[in-house]
Amino acid sequence: MPRSKKQNLNKDKPPILSRRRISFQAVKGTKDILPEEQPYWDFVRDTVRKIALEYSFGRIDTPIIEDTNIFVRGVGSKTDIVEKEMFTFKDRGGNSISLRPENTAGIVRAYIENGLANKPQPLKLYYLGSMFRYDQPQKGRFREFHQFGFEILGAASPASDAQMILVASNILKALGLSHFSIKINSVGCTLCRPAYKETLVNYYQGQTSRLCTHCKRRLKTNPLRLLDCKEEKCQRLANNAPALIDSLCEECHDHLKEVLEQLDELQIVYSLSARLVRGLDYYTKTVFEIWPEKTKGQEEGSQIALGGGGRYDNLVKDLGGEATPAVGFSCGIERVIMQMTESKIEPPSLRKIHVFLAQLGELARRKALVLFENFRQNGIIVSESFSRGSLKSQLKVADRLGVKLTLILGQKEALEGTILLRDMETGVQELINRDKIVGEVKKRLEKMRRKI
Ligand code: AMP
Repeated sequence: MPRSKKQNLNKDKPPILSRRRISFQAVKGTKDILPEEQPYWDFVRDTVRKIALEYSFGRIDTPIIEDTNIFVRGVGSKTDIVEKEMFTFKDRGGNSISLRPENTAGIVRAYIENGLANKPQPLKLYYLGSMFRYDQPQKGRFREFHQFGFEILGAASPASDAQMILVASNILKALGLSHFSIKINSVGCTLCRPAYKETLVNYYQGQTSRLCTHCKRRLKTNPLRLLDCKEEKCQRLANNAPALIDSLCEECHDHLKEVLEQLDELQIVYSLSARLVRGLDYYTKTVFEIWPEKTKGQEEGSQIALGGGGRYDNLVKDLGGEATPAVGFSCGIERVIMQMTESKIEPPSLRKIHVFLAQLGELARRKALVLFENFRQNGIIVSESFSRGSLKSQLKVADRLGVKLTLILGQKEALEGTILLRDMETGVQELINRDKIVGEVKKRLEKMRRKI
């Protein structure tokens, strides 16, 4: 029946639409981080904080929204990120605002605005936070994603580049990841890169018909990006393209050589990757990426980088500050966690709930609440369901949680100062003095742990 007729029949009742169930979904490319995933997030954040402290990096938090021009000038107007992937809007005052697609440009803005150049240099900063890119969502690619990142501002030495790679590598190792590789290259500087760009454009002249449509356009706007296009036909051409490394000026060449020597000294394994250019314009000299090792049967193109970074010696000046050499990197937390779960790495804080506390009646509930506190103070994680009345329904919850022990506190036990301790595996129940229950549970959990 058409809706209009149906509504006419029910004209004294509220319109049918207002009673319809509405269902909302998370915005495309965003996701909830549910309680069971949180231990991974805590582990990553705690590890980042710990290592940041060890290498004397200070935390910085910058706003999620910035003036769009910061990214246009910083990341580059002809980059994919700025051209296609930014969430940009006009605020009520008509200013163009963007959700940050990355954090280096924002940090540089903060460095200049807050006069951080006056602090002892180099200034070592780290961050944790969400970034936004309007990209096609797929495995490991989201529209809201999270990064941890490190920056050293006011540092020209190749030792700082090597330290960045060391920090990134040590964080991944501390998280239990060992199967990753580090790719490194140099994208030169304003002195040597223009000549290389010309050589590259010349190389592609006469072969443009063999390029994908993106690359045909990029050849005019951002020719370096042709080198890391994922299209097979473009890769074939890129493989034979002149290498940037052969066109470096003496300073860039020596800088790269020193970074590599430092990495050798630190016994960090890396591979030189002539086609690595990164998708942001602000890089100068060193660039690097960290990739998970290919698993069996995995295609080259299906792989996704865990992180990347490099030197950006012109960015502070480009955004209005004094010329300040700098270097940094960021890693995607979702991708790091994905790699951890694929490698079956469990965070240490993934603690299972071992005890369920069931109660029957008003007095028992009150006593149970106190007991719950005793357990918590003794470091034992207890779950309960205070709102459920029947023992049967509470035991059902305990069962679903997969707990080892359930404590049952009824009216009788509440009055007598006792409690029932039920072993969920055997179903055996024992009456225990309530004063002794915390110690008794501790003892049994310890015994169970030893058995595992
Ligand atoms: P980029 O500077 O673009 O190389 O990003 C640094 C790291 O952030 C990447 O290596 C990824 O781990 C992560 N990342 C970048 N874009 C996304 C995305 N759309 N979804 C999830 N992680 C991302």
